[in-house]
Amino acid sequence: MERLIGLTHSLRLESFKWDISENRSGGWRQSLLYIFERRNKMSNAYDEYLRDHKENVAKGLYWLGANLPDILNGVDVVSLRDQVNQYHDLSKSTVAEYEPYDAYFYGKNKSYDVVKNFKYAWLHHIHRNPHHWQYWVLINDEPGRGTEVLDMPYEYIIEMICDWWSFSWKKGELYEIFSWYDQYKAYIQLSDKTRKTVEDILDKMREKLDGINYGV
Ligand SMILES: [Zn+2]
Repeated sequence: MERLIGLTHSLRLESFKWDISENRSGGWRQSLLYIFERRNKMSNAYDEYLRDHKENVAKGLYWLGANLPDILNGVDVVSLRDQVNQYHDLSKSTVAEYEPYDAYFYGKNKSYDVVKNFKYAWLHHIHRNPHHWQYWVLINDEPGRGTEVLDMPYEYIIEMICDWWSFSWKKGELYEIFSWYDQYKAYIQLSDKTRKTVEDILDKMREKLDGINYGV
C-alpha cells in the first residue's frame, strides 16, 4: 500500500511536469497509462537501477550541502532537492524511454532495432532533461551560424555533477569522478563560463575529499 501511495504521488508529480513540457498530444497521459500497465511486467533490474541511480544522485547533493555549503549559496535548495529527488530522470519512465532503455541495457541482444530504438530514447532524454550538457547545445537553423553552446543555469550544473558523481557513489570510489571528467572533458561541450563553474566545483570537491581522507 505504501508503495502504491508513493507511486501515485510520483505519478501526480510526473503528470504536472509533463503537462508543461510535453506538448505532443496525449504524450504524458499515454505515459501514465503505460506505467500503470507495464509496471509489474517490466524488468525489475531496470527499475532497481533507476531507483539506485536516483539515490546515488541524491547522496551527492546531500554531501555537497553538508560539506561544501558555499556551493549552494543563493540556490533554492528545496527546489534543487525536489529536482533531484523527484524529477531527476523522470522521463526514463515514459513510453519513449522506458522500454528502449530496458531492452538496450537489460535485454538479451543488441539487435539493429534495439540499438536504433535506444538512440531515439536517448535523444528524447537529452532533449527533456536540462541536467545533460547536450540539452544546452544549440544547433542553429540558419546556414553558417553553426552550433553554439549556451551557458547552463547553475542549478542544472549542480544536478549534472551529482549525476556524474552518482557512479562513483555506487562504486564507493568518490574520487572516480575526477579521472572520469579528465577523460571526457575534451568531448563534453560546455560554454567557457559553464566549464569554469564545473571545474571550480570539482576542484573544491577534491580539496574537501582530500581534507576528509588525508587531513590535508
Ligand atoms: Zn539524465
